[in-house]
Amino acid sequence: MASQETANDPLTEQDNLTSELANLEKQFADRKVKEKDYELLSKQLRERIRKAESQSYNLAKKDESIARRLRLRNFNDPEIQQIVNHFLKASEKSLEPTFGADRIPRYLVLGTVLVEQKILQKMADMGMLSEVLFERIVSCPTCGTPSNVHLRFKCTQCNSMNIALNRMLEHLQCGTIHQENVFFVGRNLICPTCKKMLQNKDEYRVIGLVCSCRACDAHFEDPAQSYFCRGCNSEFSLSSGQIVDVFSYGMGKNILNEARRFIGVNALTTLLTAKGYMIKSPGVMAGASKEVVFSLTAEKDTKLIAIDLSQGDGEVEVEPILDLFVKVLEVNSAHAVFGAMPALSKKARDVAAMHNIQVAEAAAPEELAEKILEIIGRI
Ligand SMILES: [Zn+2]
Ligand SMILES: [Zn+2]
Ligand SMILES: [Zn+2]
Repeated sequence: MASQETANDPLTEQDNLTSELANLEKQFADRKVKEKDYELLSKQLRERIRKAESQSYNLAKKDESIARRLRLRNFNDPEIQQIVNHFLKASEKSLEPTFGADRIPRYLVLGTVLVEQKILQKMADMGMLSEVLFERIVSCPTCGTPSNVHLRFKCTQCNSMNIALNRMLEHLQCGTIHQENVFFVGRNLICPTCKKMLQNKDEYRVIGLVCSCRACDAHFEDPAQSYFCRGCNSEFSLSSGQIVDVFSYGMGKNILNEARRFIGVNALTTLLTAKGYMIKSPGVMAGASKEVVFSLTAEKDTKLIAIDLSQGDGEVEVEPILDLFVKVLEVNSAHAVFGAMPALSKKARDVAAMHNIQVAEAAAPEELAEKILEIIGRI
């Protein structure tokens, strides 16, 4: 079983390796491979699949065609689907993080589901989401979390953090400069030189900070700074810590439209493949004057069916139906089925009937797949 060392791109390689692994698993189940060999080979294959996958995501940042192929594969991942649904419902708003007591950013989607930045980052890599810098957090370089990191101000001489930080005030009228605590008499600020009570903020200014160490009595302007992780008791500086960028995320109109067309494809592909249909998604067909792209095409015996799917925030309107009609005219040979989630508007339904496009409507991808199977069984 020779593996293809020189696949065209990491996505194709990932597919080849995955089917190689499936093959190996079948051979092992049929007792054609020894357990020891199976374990070694499957471990190697899994490692290569992981490598190809991470290569795909890296490449997707620069190569839109790889990014698009990744998106089409991922629209039906249950976790990604929830996030896409969130943006389908609230397309204009960006998704901002909340920070819990552990200071780890999490994102609330659909009002109830918390997702981690990792999955959103993956979606941004394949061009599903755009990101805007929201906050930067300092994580411990030893244990990798920001949860227990504290900023420390310390004495520049003896390193003690037992230091007093005093603001220096200047009384503008008489020019007196002193530590803030010298100005305080009870809750009032009174100039120690001219004895005037300072009632407005424009009568004085803060000109800096003076620190004094309670351990060694040193005086200095800028305290030394470091970070201390209470989780693993390690101290680190800004230069050795991990600064983690935290983003807010948005989904552009193009991607929302793409998502609407491909979000039910996996459920439908699984069902139709099991019933003996050959599925291509995206379904690309050569037309009279140009190539046209359907959500998917299904082929069995002499039947060729072009299927477009669309998910709306509410009812699916007439445009995607007309779009399908024009494409079917262009290819001139396929039957056309339109699947809408959760439903079509009345006008869209009328237009579909007028143009001989069969329609299925359902709230969930699996239910929609069943209805489309029933329709194409009758064609
Ligand atoms: Zn730590
Ligand atoms: Zn000191
Ligand atoms: Zn004064």
